[in-house]
Amino acid sequence: MSLKGKTAIITGSNSGIGLGVAHELARAGADVVLNSFTDTDEDHKLAEDLGREHGVTARYIKADMSKGEECRHLIEAAGACDILVNNAGIQHVAPIDEFPAEKWDAIIAINLSSAFHTTAAGLPMMRKAGWGRVVNIASAHGLTASPYKSAYISAKHGIVGMTKTVALETAKEPITANAICPGYVLTPLVESQIPDTAKKYDMSEEEVKEKVILERQPSKEFATVEQIGGTAVFLCSDAAAQITGTTISVDGGWTAL
Ligand code: NAD
Repeated sequence: MSLKGKTAIITGSNSGIGLGVAHELARAGADVVLNSFTDTDEDHKLAEDLGREHGVTARYIKADMSKGEECRHLIEAAGACDILVNNAGIQHVAPIDEFPAEKWDAIIAINLSSAFHTTAAGLPMMRKAGWGRVVNIASAHGLTASPYKSAYISAKHGIVGMTKTVALETAKEPITANAICPGYVLTPLVESQIPDTAKKYDMSEEEVKEKVILERQPSKEFATVEQIGGTAVFLCSDAAAQITGTTISVDGGWTAL
């Protein structure tokens, strides 16, 4: 499968799943645009190294995915948008009656509304190019719930709904929209939850990984960023041209329970 000549924009891609997806798309030949809101030398170097490693054009564009106009600017500044991976995401864990309103607003903005803005800006470019792929990084929490993650779960269920809607609106065009639903992947987003959970349950961090985090993941293994990236490459392939409006779980059996 060659994605040579395609430009992929991956939101929130200076770490974790986004960076892993960028690597796999670049390995398949796509030119990539990395994004975050930080704009550090390290961000630019990540793009430089990635481009050199895979022999593709890789750029870094700063845009804060909590701001609608910056989401749209990212797509416009990229100049092409054949593959759009909506990946940027944050988490906050608290009971709903103690959930800080500003955290709710930030999670809905970054994990859900950003994908509305990027998709709205990206679809006209896909139509002009006569080909397009929208790949939304949802979550097992887009299909099931857990306590204390009301904003995240609402955003992830929302993005699954948006994926279906975009698929229907583009059904007669050579454009697809799908969501990948990862179970737990060991990235900074998950690692940051471990110390507090260890304190809460009086466990070691290793015990937290095995007994708390992977409790609902029947394989008892974390999914990897390469596996999520490989799934994105598949969704961009010709074999997936009739796959649209659906979710693909990469969750070690979580949603089979
Ligand atoms: P991560 O913390 O490693 O990455 C999050 C990315 O989002 C980073 O690149 C960060 O710079 C970016 N980001 C955060 N706020 C941003 C903003 N305002 N503007 C632009 N970029 C911003 O976490 P991750 O685990 O790689 O998460 C990536 C996506 O995968 C998220 O949508 C997350 O919900 C989803 N996901 C993760 C897991 C998991 O177990 N790690 C499971 C299911 C779904």
